[in-house]
Amino acid sequence: MSHPALRGDHHVHSTFSDDAVSTLEENVAVAAAAGLVELRLVDHVRVDTAWVPEFVDAVRRLEVPDGLTVRTGVEAKMLDASGTLDLPPLPPGVDRVLIADHQFPGPDGPWSPTATRERIADGRISAEAALDLLVGATVAAVTRHPGNQLAHAFSILPKIGLDEDLLGAERLAAWAAGCAATGTVVEVNEKWGCPGPAALAAARHAGVALVASTDSHDARDVGRYDRVARLLAGLGG
Ligand SMILES: [Zn+2]
Ligand SMILES: [Zn+2]
Repeated sequence: MSHPALRGDHHVHSTFSDDAVSTLEENVAVAAAAGLVELRLVDHVRVDTAWVPEFVDAVRRLEVPDGLTVRTGVEAKMLDASGTLDLPPLPPGVDRVLIADHQFPGPDGPWSPTATRERIADGRISAEAALDLLVGATVAAVTRHPGNQLAHAFSILPKIGLDEDLLGAERLAAWAAGCAATGTVVEVNEKWGCPGPAALAAARHAGVALVASTDSHDARDVGRYDRVARLLAGLGG
């Protein structure tokens, strides 16, 4: 029997995102055909994004088949170690912010993955300090923006030459406690295959709610799980 979370997809992009190809309607149609009960439509924002009210209106006008609940979100990246997000003012009707590690949240602002890898390689920052910064920034972001969702947590680690296994139990416990204390939902992301088993076990132990997501940029991928199914099965019950 498959995990109940697999009947939802909590991170699905539409053409409101520059890099996605499907309309809101196409995503809803595929979700309904796949038998999903919950679909979260989410697009990428920056502090100067102006289309969020239009997005909310477009979602409100969707014809949604019985049995499917459509929710909304915007995906915003962490900008720095203090947990600032690249987020515009939000109108009513945006259910959740998806907090993303697209750039490394440095003390002085976002570092690109390449710049971060170089800093680690030439010793300007140790791997341990980088891991501390990432976890600290994430906890700071969820504390400043409680009740939201972590998008593909730790997806930046392979991009900066580090592995989730380096996080260790203590950092993962602090990360999971921060999510639990702030009502933050953690998504298990198909595109990036993260977070990994140790982080998910820590989240589960702390009582964090987990949801499944494809991070689809093409409606054909909505609700199709392989890595997420295995990660959730690995957690047991
Ligand atoms: Zn993302
Ligand atoms: Zn995304």
